[in-house]
Amino acid sequence: MERQEDGTLKAQKRAVELTTEVAQVQVKIEGSLWASLEKAGEDPDLAVLASDVLAWDVDFYLDVRAGDSMRMVVEKVFADGKLLRYGEVLAAEYDGATTGRKRLFRYTDPEGQTSYYDDNGQSARRGFLKTPLKFARVTSGFGNRIHPLLGYQKAHEGVDYGAPTGTPVWAVGDGTVRQAGWNGGCGKSVTLRHRNGLETVYCHLSGVAVSAGKPVSQKQVIGYVGQTGMATGPHLHYAVRKNGSFVNPLRLEIPRDAPIPEKDLADFRAKITPIREKLESGPVAVN
Ligand SMILES: [Zn+2]
Repeated sequence: MERQEDGTLKAQKRAVELTTEVAQVQVKIEGSLWASLEKAGEDPDLAVLASDVLAWDVDFYLDVRAGDSMRMVVEKVFADGKLLRYGEVLAAEYDGATTGRKRLFRYTDPEGQTSYYDDNGQSARRGFLKTPLKFARVTSGFGNRIHPLLGYQKAHEGVDYGAPTGTPVWAVGDGTVRQAGWNGGCGKSVTLRHRNGLETVYCHLSGVAVSAGKPVSQKQVIGYVGQTGMATGPHLHYAVRKNGSFVNPLRLEIPRDAPIPEKDLADFRAKITPIREKLESGPVAVN
């Protein structure tokens, strides 16, 4: 864009060449994951990508501690030599005090299905995600200094997650919307019925993004954290019902999807070997 002599601006379009590079990223967590990525010179949106890949194993609101480390192999798309965006995450590893080491690889099988698997070909996916909160930029100030979980309280039969208003809430599993909208002390809420017979309830939302009777898929945003109903501050009250009675969401044992079948294991190992080498290249950087 150029300013003309008469003061007006004149713009023109030109083609920009995009190049994709496969890069290894590593970060040691100090303060929040967000701040740690910024310090490491990466776009903190990488945290959103990582949390999406690791969503069945790591709760990026509760599980992140100073001293943890994260490594990724990710495509970086450059325009005129500047990072434009990230592409696919080819591998992600989170090694944390509360999570242990979780490491996943992106694999497309001979039938063309793409998913994430661990070193041994076990699926990353489960019927339920580890957390009802989708990691997002709105929570950038959230670090390990404030522990956002207020705990499972038998008295009101659920778990409270302190999180800023507007934090996206996602469906922990595929299901159908049983209820969406105002729901007494629960405020604006959503109730989902899942195929495994469980029901999940999400309360005190500032907004609801689904309607009753509609199907939802795992990771679909169903609403946003708020403080509607009986709530003294912004938080998500999350509850799980089994055969009509409440159970502790933090104690659920939800099985993983099917592993890579025997016939594809050799192909899987051959394809992830160079990615694993890239993932393991170099020590974890200290900020
Ligand atoms: Zn609660």
